[in-house]
Amino acid sequence: KPRIAILGRPNVGKSSLFNRLTGRRTAIVDDTPGVTRDRKEGDARIGGHDVVLVDTAGLEEAPPDTIPGRMRASSETALREADLILFVVDARSGLTPSDHAFASWLRKHNRPVILLANKAEGRTGAARSLEAYELGLGAPLPVSAEHGDGFGELHDEVAERLKADVAPHLLEEDDEEELDTEEKRRRRPLRLAIVGRPNAGKSTLLNALLGEERMITGPEPGLTRDAVAVEWTDETGGKVRLVDTAGLRKKARVHEGLEQMSTGATIAALKECEVAVLVLDANLGMDEQDLRIARLAEREGRAVVIALNKWDAVEDRNAARRGLEDVLTASLAQMRGITVVPLSAATRKGVDRLMPAVREVYARWNKRVPTGELNRWFENALTRHQPPLVGGKRLKLRYCTMPKARPPTIAIFGTRAELLPEDYRRYLVNLFRDTFDMPGVPVRINLRGTT
Ligand code: GDP
Repeated sequence: KPRIAILGRPNVGKSSLFNRLTGRRTAIVDDTPGVTRDRKEGDARIGGHDVVLVDTAGLEEAPPDTIPGRMRASSETALREADLILFVVDARSGLTPSDHAFASWLRKHNRPVILLANKAEGRTGAARSLEAYELGLGAPLPVSAEHGDGFGELHDEVAERLKADVAPHLLEEDDEEELDTEEKRRRRPLRLAIVGRPNAGKSTLLNALLGEERMITGPEPGLTRDAVAVEWTDETGGKVRLVDTAGLRKKARVHEGLEQMSTGATIAALKECEVAVLVLDANLGMDEQDLRIARLAEREGRAVVIALNKWDAVEDRNAARRGLEDVLTASLAQMRGITVVPLSAATRKGVDRLMPAVREVYARWNKRVPTGELNRWFENALTRHQPPLVGGKRLKLRYCTMPKARPPTIAIFGTRAELLPEDYRRYLVNLFRDTFDMPGVPVRINLRGTT
């Protein structure tokens, strides 16, 4: 379930808000600051979603001058653990220095925040709430925890934020594929594509993987029969389904031995698969045709493993390895650290290492980084290397979320975030891949400008 924390200086109405959202009446609400002393948690249904609501009232009851210290000590935990924050100010009394201190602390943490101007009953209340724009946390939502004004909007806003960016993976109506457990995944076959140029050894490799001569291959084109719905259990015990049977079809005529695997068939296979095995002929190295296929896989967001085939026939293995490394570094920066498995489909030597490598990259491709961990990384990334100036003004990136995996996708929010230059994006992608150990996995970045 998504966790939503209510933060704000004492006496702005956090507990009343908590009570109204959880449907409780019993908690102590008092006008004296600091009455509610413990952090409370409760189940609530907000915007149609089951969430855990955390009330931090009482965590920051120190005198105003020590608030930053107190907040760091106590509210930080609530903040870190939360997927979304409701930051509450008091529209009736107006903003205080504590609100400003609190807001700038929040901004520094780059977390998803909805700004609530509480005690904003009626029209005057709504008008007063506008002052909270000053806090730089977006448009304030006028509400009254006591009377219930603005709660329809609040529910909608929470639902929208959870769904769009913050925690779609935690919502119950989430797309089944996204919610899948490791267990479910194991039971369902992994969809594998075997791609590569003609004669790289794709059919031979498939035979080796299947462990029996299910397909007939040979130097004479035309011998490969169409294979339909090839499915098997690999040595890791998981099921695998081959998706690109059409791509393995051979042309019927001898003189077309050099024909290229059609781009259309490759794209179709890549769209359908989860992991693509790119088969290279180690004797020929990686050429433009292979690179094109690798880039297509990247574009489709697929995890890729390279099968460096015909290893048995390679004379200088070090040179072959180095040659491939060079091409990968120079031309496939996006797939940095991609797994390369040297093998011989013909002799089956090394073939047993392919599926474990596929499973490994598949797991990374499915990986989600929890929001808290992600934002600690993000903060660190921004400190190490400041976002650039655009048009003379520094871009302010506030926080990020990981709305989906398969492939890993991060959404970055900030003022004019959409203007983030390509090289900074690349810096973030590479750092992300290194930090969370996702070599060979394409990582996507979405930029969301906020006001
Ligand atoms: P495809 O077009 O990618 O499906 O390639 P095939 O599987 O039909 O293989 C093309 C040719 O390469 C055939 O003559 C195979 O016998 C040969 N071949 C495949 N794998 C290996 C290997 O590991 N070592 C060697 N020496 N030859 C191989």
